[in-house]
Amino acid sequence: MDTTHEVFNQSTPLADYNLFSGNQAMRDALAFNAPTLDTTPLQALGAQCGSAAMQTHARLANVHAPELHTHDRFGRRLDEVEFHPSYHALMAAAVGAGLHGSPWAEGADAKGHAHVRRAAGFMLFTELEPSILCPISMTYAVTPALRSNAAIYADWGPKLASRAYEPALRLWRDKPGLTMGMGMTEKQGGSDVRANTTRAVLEGADAWGQRFAVTGHKWFFSAPMCDAFLILAQTPSGLSCLFLPRVLPDGTHNKIEIQRLKDKLGNKANASSEVEFGQASAWLVGEEGRGVPQILAMGSMTRLDCALGTSGLMRQALSIALHHTAQRQAFGKPLIEQPLMRNVLADLALESEAATALALRLARSFDRSGDAHEQAVARLLTPIAKFWICKRGSPFAQEAMECLGGNGYVEEGGEGIMARIYREMPVNSIWEGAGNIMAIDLLRALRKADTAAALAQELAPAKGAHAALDRMAAALPTRVEQMATELEARRLAQDVALAVQAALLYQSAPAAVFSAFCDSRLDGNWGQTFGTLGAATDFDAIIARAMPV
Ligand SMILES: Cc1cc2nc3c(=O)[nH]c(=O)nc-3n(C[C@H](O)[C@H](O)[C@H](O)COP(=O)(O)OP(=O)(O)OC[C@H]3O[C@@H](n4cnc5c(N)ncnc54)[C@H](O)[C@@H]3O)c2cc1C
Repeated sequence: MDTTHEVFNQSTPLADYNLFSGNQAMRDALAFNAPTLDTTPLQALGAQCGSAAMQTHARLANVHAPELHTHDRFGRRLDEVEFHPSYHALMAAAVGAGLHGSPWAEGADAKGHAHVRRAAGFMLFTELEPSILCPISMTYAVTPALRSNAAIYADWGPKLASRAYEPALRLWRDKPGLTMGMGMTEKQGGSDVRANTTRAVLEGADAWGQRFAVTGHKWFFSAPMCDAFLILAQTPSGLSCLFLPRVLPDGTHNKIEIQRLKDKLGNKANASSEVEFGQASAWLVGEEGRGVPQILAMGSMTRLDCALGTSGLMRQALSIALHHTAQRQAFGKPLIEQPLMRNVLADLALESEAATALALRLARSFDRSGDAHEQAVARLLTPIAKFWICKRGSPFAQEAMECLGGNGYVEEGGEGIMARIYREMPVNSIWEGAGNIMAIDLLRALRKADTAAALAQELAPAKGAHAALDRMAAALPTRVEQMATELEARRLAQDVALAVQAALLYQSAPAAVFSAFCDSRLDGNWGQTFGTLGAATDFDAIIARAMPV
């Protein structure tokens, strides 16, 4: 066939670049939150996560979704999930980077910034592939809770923090590294776990303490190939937290039957299952009947990861949009030089930078958990970061996708990364406490004097920097006081988040970013979509700062 045409004016894939060195907003937020942090490991991780080879693994792990094998061909139960080799390559990289537990193992080398460093790494890895980070995040969150059963922690703790990834279903003792998941949600309720019906009956006691027989189900049970889970079940004393390994100490398989895998909108590389426990063996962790507070402690860490994850996805979508529009010409010049496209890109850049600043500030409070102010900051910022950053994710992804025109909407066998980002975005808002639950939680927190004082202290450095921020900050205490019900809790959560983000940008970002953020989000000079910043905005400075390469 004769050549029909030449392909031109199409952009190149954004690959083989360093996600860390190109992310000025992250580097500035790290300098603010962890000034003495050695960022060498993040440089290395940024290069690895931006490589074309790892991007191929991310594509393959999503295209070849996990498969459940309930039985072998002779009819015996297997309850195993089979993954594409690329899934294991990604897991090995995430575990190798310590994203599942480095703060629990790390000593002086992180100079007191172990959670911040891990948080930045988690964001970088999200830009590569977010769904495999589900078991990584759960392992990070459960490890400290496991300390309340000293015998189990002594056996499992070191291997949960090990940098070796070993996917085989084997006895914990025979594996160099372990992962864990969490099982709370049942068919009749996820937000309100007190509705759990799964029962645990005391069987006896052994080296791991009190052992229970568990009967019931979990409706969402992600990463069922983890080595063990912390689950909630009803004992005679109430809802309790139990340690449920897949392989029992005698080497036999525990009675955990995987019913099926969820057919999900996104998050394709991660297996999320429905399970039933038929007299499965599990050991008590912490005090019997105190399961809810224990799960809440873990929830603060997975909620941090939701905020980090969405910030990472925003950054990835922004980078792709900037890269594309810098190459694609329309109406005589690159799209990135068209004034209205500059408005869209700059607005996305502001949102991405504000998300990064808030998520990393929250991570800093985890490094200072012995400090009363930082404890109150964690209490305050966990619900607002989880609520606001995750809520902003989906409209952000849609707008970034639109920057690529029709190409943004095309999957092309997993090559269309924007489609993957768009499908992934909503989940961080739903799991680990959906939006309303977070907004109500914030209201509850702000009614306590120490959390309210922590908010005032966090906003104080930016006092006098922008009139709209001053007005909003001054009004917040009265609004909390006058809020008789939770009806307006979402609006409160939004405004607290915006005020904190503005105060953080004042301290860690250039003046152009701070003033454009306040003018748009706080002072009303903004529309209902991205791309409605006012004419006084310094578009050049904001866009130049955000360029990924
Ligand atoms: C992909 C995926 C993987 C998951 N993996 C796991 C897992 O591994 N382990 C696990 O335990 N769970 C898991 N979950 C479950 C998840 O945590 C729950 O879906 C979530 O907590 C919400 O619970 P629910 O689905 O029962 O919804 P519901 O609790 O019924 O909530 C529905 C809606 O009602 C709102 N709502 C609830 N109460 C109130 C109120 N008082 N006022 C106003 N609004 C309210 C919520 O905000 C939500 O928007 C997973 C979910 C998904 C999507």
